[in-house]
Amino acid sequence: FDQRDGEIWFNGEFVAWQDAKVHVLTHGLHYASAVFEGERAYGGEIFKLREHTERLIESGRILGFAVPYSADEIDDACTALLHRQGLGDAYVRPIAWRGSEMLGVAAQNTRINVAVAIWQWPSYFDPAQRMRGIRLDMAEYRRPDPRTAPSRAKASGLYMICTISKHIAEAKGYADALMLDWRGQVAEATGANVFFARDGALHTPLADCFLDGITRRTIIDLARRRGIAVHERAIMPEEMATFSECFLCGTAAEVAPVTEIGPYRFTPGELCRRLVEDYAAEVTPKRLAAE
Ligand code: PMP
Repeated sequence: FDQRDGEIWFNGEFVAWQDAKVHVLTHGLHYASAVFEGERAYGGEIFKLREHTERLIESGRILGFAVPYSADEIDDACTALLHRQGLGDAYVRPIAWRGSEMLGVAAQNTRINVAVAIWQWPSYFDPAQRMRGIRLDMAEYRRPDPRTAPSRAKASGLYMICTISKHIAEAKGYADALMLDWRGQVAEATGANVFFARDGALHTPLADCFLDGITRRTIIDLARRRGIAVHERAIMPEEMATFSECFLCGTAAEVAPVTEIGPYRFTPGELCRRLVEDYAAEVTPKRLAAE
């Protein structure tokens, strides 16, 4: 991944992709003092860019550091890089981390570095293909109690259990894994939120110990605009037996219907299809939608 052509925005400058390097004694690498974002551009525009930038800055604040650029500066860096890379549909990865000036648990005097990388990632909103659905494993690891980890931050350290769980799921032939929270309630997948449907209404876990995704909030808005009731509440795993439809949602996953979670089975139907289509329409820049 580090041998590509193109550029990366690195602490205020555009540098060659292959030269955007850090030292092995980087604090963020040793102690996970890093926060990041995942964004998608559609037709040359980054969807909900400002919300992602604000979440990056807030994640840094939760980890005890100030991202040394304003939201305007970060937005401009992302947009300028998207254009310099010549991309329309792409994935955008901003990251902020403590540098290599000190190494130890305490690292007050490290520089806060910021970088943005953007690469091509077309979105295939082929509803027919999406409606075939994906299969999920049940993860062994649980989302931590908010008293155990800064669960509202999109912090690199929180992804350790996600990578482990996703690798185990993939080794068993699943697309992803569903994680419970520390109480045993349904939480989310390793990089996306989860929704269920029953009798024309949506049900989704309350985001009180995991990321309240920007896509999750978008889906809730889209559903309510259509008059579909959305219930944010505690969902116990056994209740999954009573739902007819299920989908994951996130910036990268978009809206991904699910057919299977452990012993539970779902059939992607009307609500999945509507939300796949509504989300595709929502992310399309207005100037393109009119064409
Ligand atoms: N949960 C986790 C663990 C994630 O990594 C993501 C992706 N950022 C999400 C949920 C969905 O968040 P968003 O819709 O803001 O991309």
